[in-house]
Amino acid sequence: LSARTPFIAGNWKMNPGTKNEAIALGKEIASSFSDSTPCEVALFAPYPFLDATVGAVGSSGVKIGAEMAFVEEKGAFTAAVSVSMIKSLGCNWALAGHSERRCLFGETDEDINKQVLNLLNHDVGCILCIGETQAEYEQGLVGPICTTQLKKNLLGVTAEQMANVVIAYEPVWAIGTGLTCPASEAQDVHATCRGVLADMYGAAIADTVRIQYGGSVTPETVDELMAKPDIDGALVGGASLVAEKFSRIINFKV
Ligand code: PEP
Repeated sequence: LSARTPFIAGNWKMNPGTKNEAIALGKEIASSFSDSTPCEVALFAPYPFLDATVGAVGSSGVKIGAEMAFVEEKGAFTAAVSVSMIKSLGCNWALAGHSERRCLFGETDEDINKQVLNLLNHDVGCILCIGETQAEYEQGLVGPICTTQLKKNLLGVTAEQMANVVIAYEPVWAIGTGLTCPASEAQDVHATCRGVLADMYGAAIADTVRIQYGGSVTPETVDELMAKPDIDGALVGGASLVAEKFSRIINFKV
């Protein structure tokens, strides 16, 4: 049996609209997290709501993280937020390389690599998001794209630091579209990714790295995904904004 503890995270993106809604959502999700929840849970909230969301989940055990952290420590970087800033709010996790950051904000593999290294150097856990676009999927490039992203985005990350890294495989065509990658197909990609990690860090380390699936995960699809041997969790966008749905997702049935 694998020693990997499943890990399910919600990515709120630029939602909800107000601090009070964030507090209410955080509280409701935290109340559905209990000793019988079969996974670790984290919520990635917009910067202005991080402090309040940390307060809302309280001592429930739900972790709060930032959706991205800029690579500089301080200074003239208007609108940017540093790792130390998020850490000072009690956030010990951040996303890096979400497809919206890559596609809409032009973040390159090199930018993402710097973010990953910066997070790890501050002892903050990192969910590194990778995945192919629809065009790449149609051209049969899933394996090569994931391999390249893993190698470029993890450049310089040590085997020891991999304890603080989670990979989220998110086919871009499945994000926010309602199109879930079939569980068996996702399993194959996860196995490929684990093979790449084994080449980079050795099989023993690769076996400890959690690989989440992301892309339109719902209460209806989560159980089948979580039953796959290399799917160790989920990164959930839309459904993490509906407490009832996200509560069912984190309390998936094994
Ligand atoms: C995401 O934003 O990482 C995501 C997977 O979104 P959704 O669940 O809405 O597809």
